[in-house]
Amino acid sequence: MFKTLKKVAFVAALLSPIANVASAATHEVAPGVYSFTPDGGHGYHSMFLVTDDGVAAFETVNSGHATQFIKAIRGITDKPIKYAFHSHNHWDHIGGGKILQALGAETVMHSQAAEYLAANPGRDTSPPDVTWDGDRHDIKMGDATIELHYLGLNHGLGMTVFVIPERGVAYIADLVTPNRVMFSIVPDFNIGEWERTLGEIQELDFDIAVCSHNDLPPEEAIKGCTMEHVAQEEAYIKDLRNAIMAEFEKGTPPFQIPSTVKLPQYEHWNQYEAWLPLNAQRLLLDMWMGPYPWVAPE
Ligand SMILES: [Zn+2]
Repeated sequence: MFKTLKKVAFVAALLSPIANVASAATHEVAPGVYSFTPDGGHGYHSMFLVTDDGVAAFETVNSGHATQFIKAIRGITDKPIKYAFHSHNHWDHIGGGKILQALGAETVMHSQAAEYLAANPGRDTSPPDVTWDGDRHDIKMGDATIELHYLGLNHGLGMTVFVIPERGVAYIADLVTPNRVMFSIVPDFNIGEWERTLGEIQELDFDIAVCSHNDLPPEEAIKGCTMEHVAQEEAYIKDLRNAIMAEFEKGTPPFQIPSTVKLPQYEHWNQYEAWLPLNAQRLLLDMWMGPYPWVAPE
């Protein structure tokens, strides 16, 4: 049996080997499924599943994060950590895998992400132990099924959305960030395919998700994100696209559009002032040049 942690536990960073870390938090988002963040919720959120058969960890991030992540897991259970799942190819998410591998966990990523990583190793990355192909792969652990969904081109390579239907939980990296506009210059996103993916995520079987980035207040962010946040992300992209199209139709010179577009209904979201013009610039180019990046479907 696993111990449960009913309330948000902010733990002093005395456990951490890293300086300047304010607080770490672990929260049970569903029975036997926990979110974890090492820094009060302003950076990266990981997730772990506890079963009678062992533990599955989602998103190692980097070695410092992974080290604290393991301490958080050990605060809940001493079951062996069998898997560490990587969401996609980006170095800022897949660092620290070797910390879990050293404990005997197998790291898992989609073959597209693994091919990228073999050609472009990062400073803190390690080759995965297990790769998988295609659109869907399931792994059984105890009473739980870990569904690995590859929903096609959207962000990065091999982007995997994880669903554990028995617990009503998902893990979503980078595709949904509550309470924040799109990430700066929207790097490595195919925005049209991202919109399609957000629609498909809303068809998956979960009630609560852990989102890798979550700009809700820390005490809320640690509780995860919901389908409503997935829908809000989709709505923001559509609203920005419509606002840019309206400026095209008014005859606004294209390169004035990013500084002209306003979406006051999102003013309360983090980074609205700084990043809305960058988001608009990126989507404008996408609407002008055609969507990018792009690869032929397998
Ligand atoms: Zn990414």
